[in-house]
Amino acid sequence: MSDTPDSAVRTYTEQHRTAFLDDLADWLRIPSVSAQPEHDGDVRHSAEWLSAKLEETGFPVTEIWETPGAPAVFAHWPSDDPDAPTVLVYGHHDVQPAAREDGWDTDPFEPVIRDGRMYGRGAADDKGQVFFHTLGVRAHLATTGRTAPAVNLKLLIEGEEESGSPNFRALVEERAGRLSADAVIVSDTGMWDESTPTVCTGMRGLAECEIELYGPDQDIHSGSFGGAVPNPATAVARLVAALHDADGRVAIPGFYDGVAELTDAERVLFAELPFDEATWLRTARSRAASGEAGYSTLERIWARPTAEVNGIGGGYQGAGSKTIIPSSALVKISFRLVAGQDPDRIQDVVRAWAEAQLPAGVGHRITFAPATRPCLTPLDHPALQAVARAMGRAFDRKILFTREGGSGPAADLQDVLGAPVLFLGISVPSDGWHAPNEKVELDLLLKGVETTAHLWGELAAALR
Ligand SMILES: [Zn+2]
Repeated sequence: MSDTPDSAVRTYTEQHRTAFLDDLADWLRIPSVSAQPEHDGDVRHSAEWLSAKLEETGFPVTEIWETPGAPAVFAHWPSDDPDAPTVLVYGHHDVQPAAREDGWDTDPFEPVIRDGRMYGRGAADDKGQVFFHTLGVRAHLATTGRTAPAVNLKLLIEGEEESGSPNFRALVEERAGRLSADAVIVSDTGMWDESTPTVCTGMRGLAECEIELYGPDQDIHSGSFGGAVPNPATAVARLVAALHDADGRVAIPGFYDGVAELTDAERVLFAELPFDEATWLRTARSRAASGEAGYSTLERIWARPTAEVNGIGGGYQGAGSKTIIPSSALVKISFRLVAGQDPDRIQDVVRAWAEAQLPAGVGHRITFAPATRPCLTPLDHPALQAVARAMGRAFDRKILFTREGGSGPAADLQDVLGAPVLFLGISVPSDGWHAPNEKVELDLLLKGVETTAHLWGELAAALR
């Protein structure tokens, strides 16, 4: 093979593979479980370990940032090019709980390598994916002869992602000046599968509400009063029945206002993914696919806003019968949101819609949980194209595009910093996030190293 920049990166990565994997295994031995207070010291130890490792990697600035909860790690390596753009990498150093008796074949905090995989809690989510950035930046410097990265490189690695990132938004707002960036790279996601490298272009947002309806002041006799006063359980059922139209569209007036429609280019690229609906139905544990008319299953999950009833109840649900008109009933509804939808406005239209459905004499209380905003980077964004090129050089394949139907704190970075969010994840669905026997494929992990080795030059050129 000729000594192209790409093969030089591959050779460098291969030469440093053993030490890299040994270091990652050391980090995985620290049980940084943010959900369990007995591991608070381990989460702190994990932050300190990472900070020291980033310093050893060459980052001139490494800091531990305290929050009211677990600490985050910040690192900064300024470019020597005064015109270089700034890029912020996001990941997390905390992990999900894990115990041998959950079904692990080996100790979750004593990593082992078997069949080209490293098993251990955090191997894929998210320590492995954070860690490929360390060898990646070394490979970038070594193979380009630079002494500093082609971009001003910043890292923010939080310690509470697995606990819902309760202090993350406040941390980002408080430190927005130091975190300022022209683009954000999130390395806490995955790709389609082992042989289909993909870049995720966005995540849906989330708004959740609980609607309680009140009828009589107490449960009353259905013989003495039935048919003559409003029934809150019937009112809840009518509300739920009115949520969608016959085409599966959400029937709340104003719900779709501002929704960013899929482009033809995206629909074509989504359709190129090797998606098998029958297999997907098995993973969904469902007997049929259903949803908004005019959209494929992947489009429904990734690119369309939805309303789902999460729970409904009210009145007597015990054994036998109890002939009452219940005094109250409730429904819990979650809305997944897409780019262009504002969670605050969604609250307003949901409230107005629900209130307009209620019969006289039925009282109500509507409460909303804190919302997560959607985020999306358009396919033709130069930074997104740079990520796809860097990944393509590492994988020697065409890179396809996905989105994520779920919701996460990445949107906070987009909102507060005003920068596009790009997802660089090399994990695959079989990695077992949050499950027993979590693992990372070593070949893919090293492709992550190669991708980031190419990425800073590609982004510097794209964002100039
Ligand atoms: Zn994660």
